[in-house]
Order: sequence, then C-alpha cells, then structure tokens
Amino acid sequence: MLPERDASREIRWTRVYTQFESTQLRTTLSIPVYVEDRFRGVVAVDVALSRLRDLIGVPDDAGTTRFLMDYRGGIIVSSQHTVRTDMRWPDDVGPTWRGVTPQQMFQAGAGMRHVDGEYLLYQPVGQRGTWLLVETFSDVDVWRAVLKRTSAPLLSIWLALPLLMFVTLRVVTLLFRHYVAAGQRLQQLAETDPLTALANRRHFGEAYGREAARRRREHESAGNDGEAGGADGARADATPPTPLSMLMIDIDFFKRVNDRWGHASGDHVLVALADVLRQNLREIDLPARLGGEEFAVLLPQTTLADAEATAERLRAAVQGTPVAPAPDAPPPGEGDGHIHFTVSIGVAEAVSDDSRTLDAMLATADRRLYAAKQAGRNRVCAADAPAGSTVAPTVPG
Ligand code: GH3
Ligand code: MG
Ligand code: MG
Repeated sequence: MLPERDASREIRWTRVYTQFESTQLRTTLSIPVYVEDRFRGVVAVDVALSRLRDLIGVPDDAGTTRFLMDYRGGIIVSSQHTVRTDMRWPDDVGPTWRGVTPQQMFQAGAGMRHVDGEYLLYQPVGQRGTWLLVETFSDVDVWRAVLKRTSAPLLSIWLALPLLMFVTLRVVTLLFRHYVAAGQRLQQLAETDPLTALANRRHFGEAYGREAARRRREHESAGNDGEAGGADGARADATPPTPLSMLMIDIDFFKRVNDRWGHASGDHVLVALADVLRQNLREIDLPARLGGEEFAVLLPQTTLADAEATAERLRAAVQGTPVAPAPDAPPPGEGDGHIHFTVSIGVAEAVSDDSRTLDAMLATADRRLYAAKQAGRNRVCAADAPAGSTVAPTVPG
C-alpha cells in the first residue's frame, strides 16, 4: 500500500478468502505504520481462520457457540461451524437471534440478551472494537456447565441440605409438641384435684385473682378513681363493675356416709358431687374442690340473687342424685342400695369497692354455709343473720 492511499489509522481486515489453490480460509489484517505522524506504510498479516478458530474454540463441550464478527455481520470464524466465505449474522446463526442486528450489538458495546431460554453475550475485541466476540448458549448449557464444575461431595451436600432441614424441622416440631403437651399435662396436674378432676384450691385462687383484677380494671376505667364525676354528674354514678359471686358447698353428715358405706364409697360420693357441679354450671363458672368434702364455685358475672338461685338448683340436683356404693361396701340392708346425700351451701358476692380478698369472700361464704348447717342442712344461705339473732341448732345427734 502506498502512503498517499492511506486515509486512516484503522487496523483493517479483508473478507474471508481462499488463496490460490489452497482450500484454507484466511483473512488479512493490515496495520498502518506512522512515524512522527507521517504514514510510512502497512504491515499486512495473513491469518488462517483455523488459527483464529483455535483461539476462540471452546475447550469443553459446554454447548457454547462463539463467533467472531465484523461490523457488517460477516462471520470471520465460528467455534462450531465451518465458516464459508459468505456467512453472515444473523442469517447463519439460527432463528433465535434474527431480531438482533450486528449494528445494535456494536452500538451497545458489550451486553447480554436472554430470549426463549437462549443467551446471547457479546463484547468488542481489538484495540478499537473492530470485531465483536459473540457467544450463544442455552439454559440447559448453563446448568450442565454448573453441574460439571460442581464436585460430587458438594452436589450431594447441596441436595442433602433441604432434606436435612426438613428432617430437623420435623424433629424440632415433634420435640416442641412433646414438651408443650408435657407442660400442659404438668400444669393440669398442678391445677387439678386427682379424685374429682375439678380445679384445686390453687387454681381456684388464681381464677379468683384474674376475675378480681378484671373488676379492678373496670372499676378504674369506669372513672371510679376518685376524681371521676365532674360537673355533669353523669359519671358520679358510673356503672358498677361486673358482679362476681362464690359458693361454698359442704356435704351434710359426710362422716356418716364414710362410717356407713366405707371410705371408698365416700369417694364415690365426692366424684358424684363433682359431676353434678360440672353438669349444672355454665362454661364460665369454675367449680373446685378446696379439700376434703369442701367444694367451692366461682361464678363470674353473677349477682348474689342469681348465685343463690344457682346454689338452690345445685342443692336440688344433689338431693336427686343417688350414688352407687363401692364394691367393697357393706351389704345395703334396707333401702334402694344407693347412697343418698345432701349438701349445704353458703353464698357470697364480691362487693363493689373491691376491698375484699379471696380469704374475706371465702370467710363470708363459709359463715353462711355454717348458718345453713345450723338451720338444718340441705339448704342454701345467702345472707348473714341479723345481729343478735341466733339460729337454733337442728343437728341431730
Ligand atoms: P357436717 O354436715 O357438719 O358437714 O358433717 P360432716 O360429717 O360432713 O362433717 P365433718 O367435717 O365432721 O366430716 C367430714 C368428713 O369428711 C371427715 C372425713 O373423714 C371425710 N373426708 C374428708 N376428705 C375425704 C375424702 O377425700 N374421702 C372420703 N371418703 N372422706 C373424706
Ligand atoms: Mg366439712
Ligand atoms: Mg360436711
């Protein structure tokens, strides 16, 4: 090439061609040489395409196809195809990339596209980006390559991990359930009377504590905190807290039951009384065995009058509940062979100023229970006798 023919400093290459009788495809690169800004000539290099193909060839069989392409889309070399002299992008690379022109890729410089599970990666090569290196591969190729590069132990760990996590989760869940169930059983054991399965004194006390706290909150939120009332007077008589009542129940002449029918039969009577309580109370009521043959019932949201009615209903139900004696009981003799028993019941209601503790309320109920016993047993007492009055004892024997 003569100096006056040169117009630029670009490295150029020829189209792919065959030389003379050789079947080998080649291209010629021409590199202009300048000395002190004066064009001195061109270094021309003949490159066999097989040589270029070796350079961009894919060493493994990952399925990737690489192309070296010029600006007009002429394919100079391909890692998979035997290049003809007239191969062009996109006509000769498959239908997926028909919409992508070489100019778009050259303009973007380097980039990636993902269409229909196929990837297209491209980047300029050479000092001035005269060629474009294009790679195409599929999702499957990616996975195959990842798996090929992943070691067997790593792969097995990777597969085993979800299984391990699943098993761990199951074990933890089972253990957790087991401990929760065990905790619930323990709690129930701590709160329940073993003979009658009613609440014990401790559970009864806790339930009372909850109800009392609720009443205290209501008392405060109703504006009964001392400053309430105000000028309008409407709040001066603020709504009273929800009523709360309590029953104390004691079996009449229970000692005689034990003496006549034996202790085991006495236990049957205790269980029968517990059943009567369970069957004749609301869901929110809490019957409890405080100890021995003493029972109590906590009646939330119940006034004294309603509690008295409930007590009367219970008393009547007990009277109408004959109990079969234990197998070891002595022969029944006369009668229907069943144990007939009655209860006396004392009734108390929490007062609105809420100054009373459980013990104070139990004491009131107990006092009235005593009054019911004094009045002849098998009865309900919901009021204290007027001061000075005495009840004539009617206890036989
Ligand atoms: P009252 O009408 O005055 O209540 O007479 P009572 O005989 O029921 O009264 P007392 O308190 O004298 O007797 C209670 C009896 O209850 C004494 C005890 O032997 C019996 N007792 C307490 N706990 C149990 C128990 O768990 N099982 C049985 N079978 N009897 C019990
Ligand atoms: Mg007693
Ligand atoms: Mg008794």
